[in-house]
Amino acid sequence: MKRLIALFLSVCTLTMLAACSSQGAEISANSKLQSSNILVAYFSCTGTTRQIAQWISGETGADLYEIIAETPYTAEDRNYNNSSSRANREQADASARPAISGNVENIEQYDVIFLGYPIWHGQAPRIISTFLESYDFSNKTIIPFCTSHSSGLGSSAANLHAICSDSVTWMDGQRFSGSASANDVSAWVDSLTLPEAEENKLENNPALSEAEENRGNIVREFNFETKTVQLNSGYEMPIMGLGTYSLTDAECAVSIAALLEAGGRLIDTAYMYHNEAAVGQAIRDSAIPREEIFVITKLYPNQFDHAAEAIDDALARMGLDYIDMILLHHPGDGDVEAYLALEQAVADGKVHSIGLSNWYIKELGEFLPQVNITPALVQNEIHPYYQENDVIPYIQSLGIVVQGWYPLGGRGHTSELLNDETITAIAATHGVSSAQVILRWNMQKGVVVIPGSSNPDHIRENLDLFGFELTDEEMAQMNALDRNEKHDWY
Ligand code: NAP
Repeated sequence: MKRLIALFLSVCTLTMLAACSSQGAEISANSKLQSSNILVAYFSCTGTTRQIAQWISGETGADLYEIIAETPYTAEDRNYNNSSSRANREQADASARPAISGNVENIEQYDVIFLGYPIWHGQAPRIISTFLESYDFSNKTIIPFCTSHSSGLGSSAANLHAICSDSVTWMDGQRFSGSASANDVSAWVDSLTLPEAEENKLENNPALSEAEENRGNIVREFNFETKTVQLNSGYEMPIMGLGTYSLTDAECAVSIAALLEAGGRLIDTAYMYHNEAAVGQAIRDSAIPREEIFVITKLYPNQFDHAAEAIDDALARMGLDYIDMILLHHPGDGDVEAYLALEQAVADGKVHSIGLSNWYIKELGEFLPQVNITPALVQNEIHPYYQENDVIPYIQSLGIVVQGWYPLGGRGHTSELLNDETITAIAATHGVSSAQVILRWNMQKGVVVIPGSSNPDHIRENLDLFGFELTDEEMAQMNALDRNEKHDWY
């Protein structure tokens, strides 16, 4: 099943990449491929169902949609022991339809919907009925899953069937306990078989042989219109931003203000840069809503043995309610335990997404089986002289987004790269700077860029990457510059 899903996602990926590579062109007109897609829709109050949903999404590459109540459920609302609590009243009333905030865009593109919920009084919360009544699921397949302490799926799914049209295929569902692991979810997903028609659709697909070559390549495509990528955690992240390594507090204030004013929304910092507080201050000082900004920080190996405390310290230093992403800065003693602390921080709502930095193929192969949440991102050294052409596709094939550090070669090396004959020639053709060519080349390879700068003019230039596109030939010329020349030791 996983292979099958990977295959048709690869097909979609190829289609999308082809569309991206000719910017402005329509996304593929092959509606058959576009409709072959999966959604994980879930309702979660305490985070347990969200975690399972994220794992399913990580396994399948499916899009995630959280069903959010227009009026959120407080702990008292969910108080099982209070017979007049909101949840108890709703569950006792078959006609209750709690309102949902937001909606699924383009529901028609999904063929298969994993539908997740906690069990309330042996049944799905009534908000699931609201969800099912809100869309036309005709001819789609729904695969329910629930989370509960003791109850099974029971009749909860069967009781939902009547809400949908007869043409919906309901597959057997699965219950997960609060202690379920990513491996449990993986085993379940592996055991599923999609309906025959779906398989035939794939097998008859002429793009399949091409997709076969890229099997497992569940690349998280960049959206060049929204300038974002959806992470396997379900969150959207901008594909270009600002790195703050070596920036002083005063420089951070100026650079981040310039970034935000020019429309940039992604900022990379680290405990080791000693400027987390200044970064947090600049975010708080800005008029941009917090949720529009995506901030990454990192735990250094000397924090691994007290990672939970270090996460809380980072939150306090930055003065933020949550951090969008925390990475482990380098492999090191206690990295697995530190990562498990990051996983706990995700469950606690302190951190939205987690990832790694300076992890390569061998390190990932050893590390991933020991953790539960697939990293959303790996940040490694990547520039035209050190391209990691073997590492990037490997990481991307795991559904993990790649982000490059030292995109311009790093301080002390930038002039060599910015004056490289090949790069300056390509830049002249497009009437842009060498820096813009390098950054655009990264993005066309599916690599997120975070150039460092204390110069507002450079920051504006580094965000201006969408008015031109490198041709296949220019991409090949850039790829030919690789010298396997690392500019730092890690
Ligand atoms: P970089 O982005 O490759 O280069 C920064 C240098 O490029 C600065 O000297 C900057 O000078 C110059 N520059 C920026 N934009 C320019 C432009 N448009 N034209 C000409 N020069 C330009 O190196 P970096 O900042 O060290 O790396 C990027 C980010 O990656 C870091 O800031 C950090 O967030 C992250 N990083 C992570 C790791 C890790 O281990 N995870 C390691 C290193 C870095 P001005 O200030 O004058 O613009």
